[in-house]
Amino acid sequence: MKISSISAREILDSRGNPTLEVDVRTTDGNFARAAVPSGASTGEFESLELRDGGERFNGKGVLSAVKNIQETIAPELIHKSFHDPKSLDDLLLELDGTEDKSRLGANTVLGMSLAGAKAMAADSRMQLFDFIRTVHGGNQASVLPLPLINVLNGGAHAYKSTSVQEFMLIPHGAEDFYSAIEISSKVFRQLAYNLRAKNYSTAVGDEGGFVPMITSDTEAIELLVEAVSDAGYIPGETISLGLDVAASELFRDGRYHLDGEAYSTEEMIDWLEGLTDKYPIISIEDGLDENDWNGWAALRSRLASNVQLVGDDLLVTNTDRLSKGIEKSAADSILIKPNQIGTLSETLEAISTAQDAGWECIVSHRSGETNDTTIAHLAVGTGSSQIKTGSLNRGERVEKYNELFRISEIIESSRMANPFDAKPESG
Ligand code: PGA
Ligand code: ZN
Repeated sequence: MKISSISAREILDSRGNPTLEVDVRTTDGNFARAAVPSGASTGEFESLELRDGGERFNGKGVLSAVKNIQETIAPELIHKSFHDPKSLDDLLLELDGTEDKSRLGANTVLGMSLAGAKAMAADSRMQLFDFIRTVHGGNQASVLPLPLINVLNGGAHAYKSTSVQEFMLIPHGAEDFYSAIEISSKVFRQLAYNLRAKNYSTAVGDEGGFVPMITSDTEAIELLVEAVSDAGYIPGETISLGLDVAASELFRDGRYHLDGEAYSTEEMIDWLEGLTDKYPIISIEDGLDENDWNGWAALRSRLASNVQLVGDDLLVTNTDRLSKGIEKSAADSILIKPNQIGTLSETLEAISTAQDAGWECIVSHRSGETNDTTIAHLAVGTGSSQIKTGSLNRGERVEKYNELFRISEIIESSRMANPFDAKPESG
């Protein structure tokens, strides 16, 4: 692929904050576009997201990222040939030259990396998922990811809400991807109905889940269990639950502050284990702080082996941190967010490292999103077992599910990965 032109602009994300969009044209006449997402509960070890500061958009403008594309990156890339994402990404890493992409910005670098990869796919006359699959070295059979559907929003994603950031439906008992979405949609509607019946608000948060203005985490879990059974499903059989505690957001002065309590690591582990004993919870993300490595290993050994423990802020899609996590048995799954690290190639490296260690990969959106659907292709192209892309509403969330429907037509299959039923139930 040879690039003939690159342009970049500031657009708005789903929270109304500026973000970067990059366009690439190739000498073959193809066009590709990518937009960059942005987190609210960002991990301390994520690569740097470049923002302008100053008055415009409350300091969140990205005109400096636009300028970096136009003045630093474009002149180096135009008229050069690239055969794979790594060759382009390596050049971007060289131009940036820092560990955390703080010179050009991880948002700048990711916009270019993704637009470049999409242009390569277009020049190869391939769908993005198929191109990623080739790059990822796989002739693995195509399978759609199991969705983790965030239907109650809390923490940094919703004002006046629970301490836990995300309460998710996991439709692992569904027979295929279409059915997973359909039954989850039924539960989501049932949840709305039940909330109204209790006089709770059905306003939604950043990822489209309801924000009923309750503060009790256990009440939120009970609302979900009730919605699953009222919709006609057996909680824990067809649909189980997942939490993203986003515990780094709750950790201050050596304690976890939630539900009016201030827990030590040990007490937090007891609390989480208690929840998994009492409720059909099969996945816990960021149950502890991003620096609490020993706590994580203790939590992993305390939870039943069929409960998935997911590192997001702990691992930040960073292969070095992931390798440490694998070595310490600190978790068994990794959340994959390309903008935490900054290039597609580094993202693929983290996925390969996780898959080689037998860990599950959950490809994820950010709470600030655009209609870019790269993560749907990334999940299928890498054979990742799960995707986390929000609720079954809000355009920027459902666009990823819709893209998976389109991909399923192309691969002529709606078979869905099911990492949970394969797991033994022993503690
Ligand atoms: P974020 O939240 O995009 O605000 O970081 C998503 C998550 O924590 O998984
Ligand atoms: Zn998270």
